[in-house]
Amino acid sequence: MRIAIISDIHGNREALQSVLDFLDHQNVDRILCLGDVVGYGPEPAWCLTKIMECCEVVVAGNHEHAVLGLLDLDYFNPVARHATHWTRNALTEDHMKILRSWPLTHIEDEFTLVHGSLDQPDLFDYVQTSWEAHLSFQQLKTPVAFIGHSHVPVTFLLSDVVDYSTEERVVLQPGQQAIVNVGSVGQPRDGNPDSSVVIYEPDNALIERFRVPYDIPTVQDKILKSGLPEFLADRLPEGR
Ligand code: ZN
Repeated sequence: MRIAIISDIHGNREALQSVLDFLDHQNVDRILCLGDVVGYGPEPAWCLTKIMECCEVVVAGNHEHAVLGLLDLDYFNPVARHATHWTRNALTEDHMKILRSWPLTHIEDEFTLVHGSLDQPDLFDYVQTSWEAHLSFQQLKTPVAFIGHSHVPVTFLLSDVVDYSTEERVVLQPGQQAIVNVGSVGQPRDGNPDSSVVIYEPDNALIERFRVPYDIPTVQDKILKSGLPEFLADRLPEGR
């Protein structure tokens, strides 16, 4: 079984299509999504429809909750707030119904999915430090959790202590648990502008991350023409 996990698409059609084309050649059995399908990017409706076609499970991100009015926009910076209002106008009531149907967490025998943290999924906290990972590990009942939100890929590992790895390929030791941030498809922020995607093989305890380039100038052009903040176009080639 090969399971692909993607996150933080952010209305970036070119990035999502490139990742799906890549996965077509990777023999994956399932594709799962960790939320923030919409927000920031110029094609939220297209991405939402595509995700519903391709992904078996989707959990909600903070941008979905913001668009739905479930999250106080005071927590957002001005750019994110502007993008949230723009995204609301770009979606129909049918789209909203789909967003409302997404749970905050999804748990199977081999893994857990959540956008932010496992200790308080509805608050969308970041898991970036060993302490934050520790708080999520305390709630983790499966071998692996896949998370998104920070747009920075990293793997936290729990043995006697919480450790972390930025390796592209991680094989879990027997009994070892991991919290894997899969990075972002549509707006990477780790200095590498290419889309990030993870493939998990539970039978081999293997977690592998891949980077996929996409047509950034085309998305930048669409962002500028749509009236979204210019900064959202400028950051893409920087991977910031
Ligand atoms: Zn995000």
